[in-house]
Amino acid sequence: MTDTVTTSRIAPWASPRAQRRLAQVEAAVSADLSPAGVAATVRTALDAHAAQVDHDGIVLYAGTNIPSPAAASATLPTLSGRPSMGWPGEKYQVGLDHLDTLEVLAPLLVADLMEGAHAEVRLQSATLANLAVYTAFAAPGDTIAVLPEAAGGHASHHAQGVPAVRGLTVVDLPYDPVRLDLDYPALPGFLREHRPKVVVIGASMMLFPHDVAAVRAAADQVGAILLYDASHMAGLVAGKLFQRPLHEGAHVLTFSTYKSFGGPSGGCVVTRDPELAERVSTVAYPGMLANYDAGRLGALAVTAAELAADGTAYAQACVTNAQTLAAALAAEGFPVVGRDGEHTRSHHLAIDAHDLGGGDAAGLRLGDAGIYLSGIGLPWQHPDEGLRGLRIGTQEITRLGFTPADQPRIAHLMRRALLDREAPERVRADAIALRREVNSRQTDSRPADSR
Ligand SMILES: *Cc1c(COP(=O)(O)O)cnc(C)c1O
Repeated sequence: MTDTVTTSRIAPWASPRAQRRLAQVEAAVSADLSPAGVAATVRTALDAHAAQVDHDGIVLYAGTNIPSPAAASATLPTLSGRPSMGWPGEKYQVGLDHLDTLEVLAPLLVADLMEGAHAEVRLQSATLANLAVYTAFAAPGDTIAVLPEAAGGHASHHAQGVPAVRGLTVVDLPYDPVRLDLDYPALPGFLREHRPKVVVIGASMMLFPHDVAAVRAAADQVGAILLYDASHMAGLVAGKLFQRPLHEGAHVLTFSTYKSFGGPSGGCVVTRDPELAERVSTVAYPGMLANYDAGRLGALAVTAAELAADGTAYAQACVTNAQTLAAALAAEGFPVVGRDGEHTRSHHLAIDAHDLGGGDAAGLRLGDAGIYLSGIGLPWQHPDEGLRGLRIGTQEITRLGFTPADQPRIAHLMRRALLDREAPERVRADAIALRREVNSRQTDSRPADSR
């Protein structure tokens, strides 16, 4: 093995691009590995991150958010290191009675908010929530049917992800790229042919809702469990906007708690059926977990209570900002994805970045301009094309106080960076200025005694 500065020690199997970056950071962090040196290195990285992203960034990445101040403060640093195993009343550990409060509040609030009866809230991510559902309802060798990757099907639905951990066969559901939705007429025949144990809908980009009732009817014909993965849509579902998956017929709902939901990181499984809930719960613990980080539950409970109180206004504001930003981007000349002249009914929107060098390249250029988002596959892309789209989510900027009037300004910054090919550093200065203007508006509108 050649020992050059472009070879990473921690991942010599990574791509050349990743290894170059890893090697650079490995060299930089190795200068002082004393406890004080490491603490200083960590502090510098955290402060720089907070300044760049939390204070000055325009974060349009669809799979992130900021917790509310009340949620952020609803935790203790010691909690994550207190294993809490089993139900309140019969835990393996003694002395955790006060944690019972969090362990009861969080699932009660989450289940009600998402229109279910039972919520499993201990899993660390939606990926693990999906694995728990697959494990509960499909055995090794069984088939699950999922959305194609280029239609927003997530890695945790596909053969390279957790279905492989369970030894499942994965088939792609029939999809209509023009409607940007399932091919409903083809669905019943497809399910009869493949007889999946679980049908997974809900995606990493959702501009339009699914016809959940139609999928449920087809799933019932083959006895399949219908899983709606609301990882991205959970904040809208909480607001009873976009769609109401359990009400419309999904057996089980999974979601990430840190995307549009706006809580701590984590994953949830919600259902109305106590038998399905028991199977998932038993897979989660003792199947997949011992300690599960009770430190997240206080913030989760507070977030759920806040969404129950004002989730509809939040969801509506996210959608209005997305629709306004989509229209502004179209007016600037971007090919905004949509159907029948409509760009989106959610907080997501997308640009076909084919003529911008692809979604990955366009995302990197915007990053240099202080606007943070990612590429996404589009249903009409070629298999070897890379990510053809740019995905945008408005959940974080909405929470920060960006209004519809700000959306044309964001669109204009994106135009300067991507269409006019202006130097990204110049655009960045104006992106930071816009973000700071919104920050100061929030500060100014706070009552004087809370400053
Ligand atoms: C983001 C996402 C996930 C994974 O969520 P994590 O909580 O990060 O594991 C699962 N499913 C879909 C559709 C997603 O978009």
